[in-house]
Formats: sequence, C-alpha cells, structure tokens
Amino acid sequence: MSSSTDRPDWLVEDLGPKGAAFVNLSDFAVPPEESHGSLFLPDRLAKGYHVEEIRDGVYWVSVGWYDCMFVTTGSGVIVLDAPPALGENLLAAIEEVTDEPVTHVIYSHWHADHIGAAAMFGANVQIIAHEKTKELLERFPDPFRPVPTETFSKDATLEVGGVRLELSYKGQNHCEGNIFVHAPAQKVLAAIDIASPAWVTFRDCDSSENLSGWEQAHHQILEYDFDTLISGHVSKLGNRDDVVEGIEYIDDLVRYSREALETIPMEYFHESMDNTYRAAFRAVEENYFAALVNYVTKKTLERTTSNGKRWEERLNGADVLTKHNAFSILEKTRLERTHNGYMRRDGSAPEKFFI
Ligand SMILES: [Zn+2]
Repeated sequence: MSSSTDRPDWLVEDLGPKGAAFVNLSDFAVPPEESHGSLFLPDRLAKGYHVEEIRDGVYWVSVGWYDCMFVTTGSGVIVLDAPPALGENLLAAIEEVTDEPVTHVIYSHWHADHIGAAAMFGANVQIIAHEKTKELLERFPDPFRPVPTETFSKDATLEVGGVRLELSYKGQNHCEGNIFVHAPAQKVLAAIDIASPAWVTFRDCDSSENLSGWEQAHHQILEYDFDTLISGHVSKLGNRDDVVEGIEYIDDLVRYSREALETIPMEYFHESMDNTYRAAFRAVEENYFAALVNYVTKKTLERTTSNGKRWEERLNGADVLTKHNAFSILEKTRLERTHNGYMRRDGSAPEKFFI
C-alpha cells in the first residue's frame, strides 16, 4: 500500500484479523493479454466506448468493463440493457451506426449495474423483461430503471422489422428473472453475469444468488446455436470455448469444495483453542472457513488444467478472485447440494459430508 504520509482519513488498514487484508501488485501474476478485450482499444480510449457490429445488425457496445447489445431492424432499434457505466455513450454508439430511434428495450435482469441508465430512452419505448424483473422493480422502485411494459414467464419472441430475438427464462441463476436473449439468425447469445470470457468470474461468482442455477446456466448456454456470446462484462466477446473453459474452472471449485468439506474437520480448530462458546463462534468459525477457502484455492490454482497451463496463466483474475469464488462455492455447496445424512438419535453422525 501507499506510504503513511499520504494516507487518507477513510483508509482503514489497521483492523488486523477483524478486517480485510490489503495486497500489493507484486503479489499477483501479469494477466494474459487476450483478456484485455476492448479496454485499451484506441476508439474506447478516445470516445469512452467501443462499438462493433457482430453480424447483420447486431451490435456490441463496451465501456471496457460493462457491455451490452443493440440491434438495428429497419423499423427501430432494440436495445438489451443500459449499464450506467456506459450511460449516454450507448446513445452515442447507436447514433454512430443508425438514424433509427430506439423502440424496444430488453432488460436481462433487474440489477442496477446493467440497466440503471434505462430511463434515458424516455417514455415512448416498450420495455420487455421477465415477470420477476417487473415484480422486483415494482417492489424496489428506481426512477432510473422504469418498470417493464411487457413481461413473459418462460419464453417470448420479439420480432421487429423481420429481426427475431428469442427470450428465455430457465429459472433463477445469477438472480431471479435473469434471461437468455438469442439472435438465432446472427448466432449471437446474450447471457448476462454468467460466463466471463478470458476471466474467472468476478468476486463471489458475480454475486450470484443461486449458484446451482448459475452453474447450470453455463451448460444451458452451450445448448444454444451461437458463435458469439455477450456476457455483460470483461470487455470481451466470448464463444463456446470460453464457456467450456469457465465450466472447467467452476468444476474445479466444486470438486475441491466437496473435498475440503469432507477432509477438514471443524473440531481440529475447536480442540486447538478451547471448548468455549467464544471459540466456537469467533476464532474457530473464522479459521475453519479460512482453512476451507485456502484448501480450495491452493488446489485450484496448483492444478495443471486441460491445456497444460495453470488457471493464473489462462484466465485473468484467477490469482486474485479464486479465494472469493471458493468461499461462495463452498457455502453454496454446503447449502444447495445433497448432504450424506443427518445426526441420529444415538449420536452417530454421517462419516462423509456428501453422498
Ligand atoms: Zn447482475
């Protein structure tokens, strides 16, 4: 960290084990160059955004760390998402390639970081989203995220000027109401906050709510006929190989999480302290979870993966984010997956955590 002479008042570095640790740049690997995506492209640096046509009227717009999609139809523009980090640069990107007005806005999901600039399209657009997204936006109103005007529950088709988009909800994954948007003719799929091309998933598996559903969504992506994936993040378009690569990383986390839960006894930490309430709910819990997280992180980062490289050499962020993702997967594995049984009346507990 910086020297103490220019230490701002808000910077809390002295919490020790009660707080979060700070790191140094030298602690981590140099990320693979192919993960840079649009971040350092000259047009993004000059204008603040990068826009490119993927195929036949389907465009990708990236601000470098958030991205979204729009489609020109000849009868108006369909926009998927409006990240506030992109904001009115999205309007500029659309105006750069067409004179058509925006007529339809699709919300991938209700999260403000992806649709928090949607109000800029005004009141004369149709807003299409899953019914859960509408429910959430009615429950937690936000003037920057207008309530959808059209909803669906499972599948919907949007056809404008002969351009067809297929919208599908396959159950809760990253959050309730998070949908797949497929442009079949252009072979483009948007699945937001699921896969992260050339990166590991961001902290806590992108803050996903249903990790079983989020993991399953990676496989659901592969059931689509697509060449290009828009993920909503990482400033990079993806493809099938990126999704397969992400699944391999998640599989590692899941496998080693199960192994850690089966291998590491909480009693070890309990017995090494004292058998008191304070030990159980303070130090033991912290050290037990530290041991679980470190076990999963070490095993995942040390493994030689399917292409002969380690994750740090393949995916940006593996060395920084794996510990955060390991914790999420450990917790969700414990909460969402089948256990091997329960405590019996005679006091006997299951030998193994999982079947
Ligand atoms: Zn989200």
